[in-house]
Amino acid sequence: MKNAPHNIYIHVPYCISKCNYCAFFSAACATPDWDKYTADICDEIQFWAQKLGRTDVPTVFVGGGTPSLMPVACFEKIMNTIRNNFNLLADVEITIESNPGTLDAEKLRAFCAAGANRLSVGVQSLSDEKLKFLGRRHSVADALNLLDTAQKMGLRVSADFIYGLPGDEVADVINLCEQINKLGLQHCSMYELTIEPDTPFGKMNLNMPDNETMAQMYLAISDTLNIPRYEVSNDATPGNECRHNQNVWDGDAYIGIGRGAAGRVFMDGIWYEQLGNGARFEKLSDTARAVEMILTGLRTIRGCRLTDTIKNVIDMDWARNNPSQVQINDDRISATPNGMLILDEVVVKLVK
Ligand code: SF4
Repeated sequence: MKNAPHNIYIHVPYCISKCNYCAFFSAACATPDWDKYTADICDEIQFWAQKLGRTDVPTVFVGGGTPSLMPVACFEKIMNTIRNNFNLLADVEITIESNPGTLDAEKLRAFCAAGANRLSVGVQSLSDEKLKFLGRRHSVADALNLLDTAQKMGLRVSADFIYGLPGDEVADVINLCEQINKLGLQHCSMYELTIEPDTPFGKMNLNMPDNETMAQMYLAISDTLNIPRYEVSNDATPGNECRHNQNVWDGDAYIGIGRGAAGRVFMDGIWYEQLGNGARFEKLSDTARAVEMILTGLRTIRGCRLTDTIKNVIDMDWARNNPSQVQINDDRISATPNGMLILDEVVVKLVK
């Protein structure tokens, strides 16, 4: 029997330098051995094709790190290996993450010729002063240029932003959203700045906005941004959601390729967790997989699918008795706007 469709995530763990807040799996290395890394990625793709067979692939997401640093020839080789080993669907979504200052029009055109049809840009702030504070290497002008270039090429474009910096007030977030509204974006991601211990910010004593202010900022984004929210940190006009992330959040299978990549593979009726390095994986119990699906599904506005396995791990009585926090519609359970603000608490009460 043919295995289920698998989305593919490819991790490119290299950046020119590390940003002050970054806890992602990435290393400051502007000139890695790209040929070796590409060969390793292609080996992993072939390994999974042998395990799973020629399954359908609805989406490919190349994330990082800074994938836009990668030579186009490497991306071409990776895409050809995927095409030769899997069945890329006709409407496949292929996203590349990028950082301003690492991608010009010519290189972007070449990535598109090799298959990319969606670009995610790490804009992060529309203030040069804040970009410098975050440890970003680019300017606002660099970011706006890249967005403009990609939009003019007709690509689907997304931009990432960070809010809730030390000293930020709700008015700053409203101002940021008003500026974003002028950019003509169909998709953006709004991430709250979180301070991770092993980062330069983690070693500084930063005066962060308190929880109440952060909650007000979250609500101000919904009120001000003219792009609707479809996940806690993601906003898109209808039909322009990131299909890769939506599939993953909805509990579909995905293969993680490359150092530090996570994956959830569904093989011969069994779920497996990949252990951060290609070929290593171990079995996941149905309960563990169901809890993961609740955690990711409830972060989305459309909520989590109510499969039989999921019904077995949630307290349906609690769900029915707390309509101010969760709602059940047809075959899905979702958090209400109030529930979204206290999602961690909701999940703890919901899961038996
Ligand atoms: S560009 Fe992204 S992955 Fe690279 S160091 Fe900065 S935040 Fe981390």
